[in-house]
Amino acid sequence: MATCEMCGREGELIDAVVEGTMLKVCPVCSKHGKVVTLSKPSFVREIKTFEKREENVEVIVDDYSELIKTAREKKGLKQEELAKDVGERESIIHQIESGKMKPDFKLAKKLNFYLKIELMEKVSRIDVKKESKDIDFKDETITIGDLLKKK
Ligand SMILES: [Zn+2]
Repeated sequence: MATCEMCGREGELIDAVVEGTMLKVCPVCSKHGKVVTLSKPSFVREIKTFEKREENVEVIVDDYSELIKTAREKKGLKQEELAKDVGERESIIHQIESGKMKPDFKLAKKLNFYLKIELMEKVSRIDVKKESKDIDFKDETITIGDLLKKK
């Protein structure tokens, strides 16, 4: 059985703040302190921060297939010849030129160098991160002390 932290009497206890200290006291002793009542909603959602992060990322340009095809034809190369020169399979070059597949950065760099084109572009990407946290007042890890500090 729980006992009052002020007088030691057993029985039903109430949370009370006595001289800044949280105690479990009996109804009689609770009159000496400020009784804490958790009348707030037991569950709140705290929207924490909006974090803005800007970064430059490299992407493959949209008209990559056009660029590669035009540059290759200018050099008078067949798809299979270009494939051989950049160390790729002909089917890969074919898929890229028909826009079905984007070259990866490694291949794009090779094509850039070999065909004197620019398949990559830098774009600015802004990440907005929204953080929300649920605070459950029934959660035992949140102590009365935490609640008092927030005030
Ligand atoms: Zn008491």
